[in-house]
Amino acid sequence: MQLRYNFRLYPTPGQQVALAQAFGCARVVFNDGLRLRQHAREAGLPHIKDSALQKMVITEAKRNPDRAWLAEVSSVVLIQALGDLHNAYRNFFASFTGKRKGPKVSAPRFRSRKDNRRSIRLTRNGFGLRPNGRLYVANVGELKVTWSRALPSVPSSVAVTRDAAGRYFASFVVQTEDEPLVQVDSEVGIDLGLTTFAVLSNGKQIESPRFLRRVERKLRRAQQALSRKQKGSANRTKARVTVARVHARVSDTRRDWAHKHSTAIIRENQAVFVEDLCVKGLARTRLAKSVHDAGWGMFTCMLQEKAVRYGRTFHKVDRFFPSSQLCSACGRIDGPKPLHICEWSCPCGATHDRDVNAAQNILAAGRAESSNACGGTVIPSA
Ligand SMILES: [Zn+2]
Repeated sequence: MQLRYNFRLYPTPGQQVALAQAFGCARVVFNDGLRLRQHAREAGLPHIKDSALQKMVITEAKRNPDRAWLAEVSSVVLIQALGDLHNAYRNFFASFTGKRKGPKVSAPRFRSRKDNRRSIRLTRNGFGLRPNGRLYVANVGELKVTWSRALPSVPSSVAVTRDAAGRYFASFVVQTEDEPLVQVDSEVGIDLGLTTFAVLSNGKQIESPRFLRRVERKLRRAQQALSRKQKGSANRTKARVTVARVHARVSDTRRDWAHKHSTAIIRENQAVFVEDLCVKGLARTRLAKSVHDAGWGMFTCMLQEKAVRYGRTFHKVDRFFPSSQLCSACGRIDGPKPLHICEWSCPCGATHDRDVNAAQNILAAGRAESSNACGGTVIPSA
């Protein structure tokens, strides 16, 4: 499978200038291409072909005095920026005609100069890894990289980005071999909750990470400071970077935390079942803060990716399944349980912890659904 490996970059002031120029040129080429296609459409002309567009906004544009500076950056950067536009159009058309499943993709939009996240993409002829451990980027130079781990294979492409906090990153696309782990017998159902982040059918609990809450006061103070700064002033820029830094720290910590727990679950279990939550629907209600805080979407994505990589089973259970109302011992549906009820007894005599019972139901339903999908027989839960 293809994975992304991210590393921090430390460009010198001179390299930062060269990168800023490359970011700017990539944006201009993307926007020029988009504008030409929009004009063609408005004039009732046919869609401009990819190769013709490349000739117009790169090759010919370089001869135009207005765009002569495009020649100062690597042509790989410009071609890849236009490639992003082609992909955006392809996704839009595929979504429009129904060939692409999932949420609707909107038409490509212009890239703003004010966007604080900048990036360029390079293929193999635009970058190289030097024996001295530096990353060579065409027309920029050899960049200092912090190699936090080794690359498993030679990367096929790299994206160099600058985030809103002013940090630089290299994101390599590498091909990795699957690394199946030794088979284990245990299977687990996971109930994702608001009070406890996750409860496992084996009784284990993962406490909710409230990183955002913890630094919320700090964030609020930084945001207030930002709002008091005059628009366009140097102090406003500084304040905006401070806000972005707090956000960046929160998301980094959250990602590390999610990696740690998802890896542990995948290692310990042969099959993992979770509820297919309508996270988007929940996020619109007043529970929004906790939902975003909890980061369920990122967590389940990690579980899924790691399951593929390590040869485990991952399955999402139908989201309309009443996991918290069903008695996991006898199968009776006992009616809705308000959030404050932690423990309940079924007329069959079983006493349940609300969340562990839900997780056990998810495990049973997951086993049934996934064996159905494979064409196997459904074994009723014990
Ligand atoms: Zn019961």
